[in-house]
Amino acid sequence: MNVAMPTNEMTRTGVAEVLDQKRKFLVPSVYHFYKDPPLMTRGEGCELFDSDGRAYLDLYSGVGAMSLGHSHQDVLAAAHQQIDELQHTTTIYLTQPMFDLAERLATLAPGPLNRSFFCSSGTEANEAALLMASQFTGRGHFLSLDGGLHGRTKAAMSVTQVPMWRTDPFLLETCQCAPGYHDESSLGVVEKELRTRDYAAVIAEPIQGNGGIIAPPSGYWQTLRKLCDDTDTLLIADEVQTGINRTGTFFAVDYEQVVPDFITTAKALGNGFPIAACLTTDTVANVSTRPAAATYGANPIACAVALAVLEHHERNNLAEQVAEHGRCLVTHLYRLSRQTNLIREVRGRGLMVGAELGDAEHQDAAAIADRVLEEMKDRGFLLGKTGIGRNVVTFMPPLVITEEQLSRACDQFGTVLQKIAGE
Ligand code: PMP
Repeated sequence: MNVAMPTNEMTRTGVAEVLDQKRKFLVPSVYHFYKDPPLMTRGEGCELFDSDGRAYLDLYSGVGAMSLGHSHQDVLAAAHQQIDELQHTTTIYLTQPMFDLAERLATLAPGPLNRSFFCSSGTEANEAALLMASQFTGRGHFLSLDGGLHGRTKAAMSVTQVPMWRTDPFLLETCQCAPGYHDESSLGVVEKELRTRDYAAVIAEPIQGNGGIIAPPSGYWQTLRKLCDDTDTLLIADEVQTGINRTGTFFAVDYEQVVPDFITTAKALGNGFPIAACLTTDTVANVSTRPAAATYGANPIACAVALAVLEHHERNNLAEQVAEHGRCLVTHLYRLSRQTNLIREVRGRGLMVGAELGDAEHQDAAAIADRVLEEMKDRGFLLGKTGIGRNVVTFMPPLVITEEQLSRACDQFGTVLQKIAGE
């Protein structure tokens, strides 16, 4: 007997209808980019397509998640095969993909970071690290850096230091903030804090993403590691955004050859499937014996996809390609910064690059960034925006993007900047 299946056609609505549904049925804190937003209905490679069939080159990849781009055949094949066999059990039953992924990550992570705790989001992975750090050290205080973003739950938000994301009126008073990478006094304050109070851990992003693509000065993490060692404080590297070759090395801490006590990672690992990992050492893991479980942690489909993603990265040497394409992108943007007075600074590493906007007349830089994003979208290019002042136009494309696609995007970016500068 043929049973009529609901199709996408039956539920598809236009932009106006969707915005109406949003107003009625979503919490208003969930906001979208663009005054005139497209309704995305399909993705393929580095492109997204809207409900009118318009194509957009996706240079933000779902905030860095779609590392292999949209509808990648390796991802689809892994997901299809796994869903046909076994969809979900939770970690109270043994399933093969979880153990294969844990073993794979142990070989890819630096030094003795051999143990994984799997969950579904970057926030949860950071919560897991903060929890294990308290259990291991018997201490309850945490130190984080100005400009860092670590998540949306109580503790993860309490260590987040980007004002717009600190929305809980009752954040934990056990979390302190030191100046960020842009401030010369940063390491001095970190040292003073660690020597005057017993902290369980310092948590930081090796390159701050949401804070505006801000990398630390060279040697920063090596000194941070030493300060943590000297004071028996654990070091958590939040690589939710920088991990899995985004910056041209598997983890961004590999660039400075620093081994933290925890690495948390998510986004690019699952290529859009919800999977996150908190990696730690045997020493820390062996003390964290109290029960821990996440219902959707290590979901077999997400793990099978993550394994396919990692295999594709390795087989195609994506780390090297990302480093090279990142250099190309930065070179293009430097060239543009010499042609217009709207770019204040270009920064980042690999395919995590930001162009901070602002002009000599001190017009509203966030408004300029919004204009740029809207104009770029109308020309078929999707960019991100980050920074405390929301004025850093951000390039975080799929890691498989080609040089030709990058230079096409930069040419349009230049044209749009020139148009705005000339107004
Ligand atoms: N840490 C960093 C560095 C992030 O960029 C994000 C999300 N943008 C998170 C944590 C939170 O991850 P999630 O949204 O998956 O909870």
